[in-house]
Amino acid sequence: MNEQDILKDAERHCTKTGARLTPLRRRVLELVVRADAPVKAYDLLSQIDRSNTSAKPPTVYRALDFLINAGLVHRVEALNAFVACPQAGHGHAAVLYICEVCTKVTEVQGARPGQEHKPEGFCVTRSVIEHYGQCMNCR
Ligand SMILES: [Zn+2]
Ligand SMILES: [Zn+2]
Repeated sequence: MNEQDILKDAERHCTKTGARLTPLRRRVLELVVRADAPVKAYDLLSQIDRSNTSAKPPTVYRALDFLINAGLVHRVEALNAFVACPQAGHGHAAVLYICEVCTKVTEVQGARPGQEHKPEGFCVTRSVIEHYGQCMNCR
């Protein structure tokens, strides 16, 4: 999927769920979508600073939180960085394959993980599974 399709998909998803994609949230999403590797929060900040001086760090972090909760962006926990989801709000586990050489991240959508072992009464709201290794180009 190309950038425009991902952004259009994200907009559709927000309209459907009633989530508000404000200009700043959209801009942050755009930057994450355009990056070809997981992007760090401070990289987003420096790119947004240039175009919008009123975007303070907390606003950008809140925008990221919104995008994660809306299922438009996934956080790569081990890298403390962010990738755009190619299928907005798929509502099940994101399985990320992360190349340790070029940091390229490929997402596949997995089955619901941990459902069979989860503690009684526990409600899973999001799951991200990270696999590390080398991609085809780096092997
Ligand atoms: Zn995803
Ligand atoms: Zn690689």
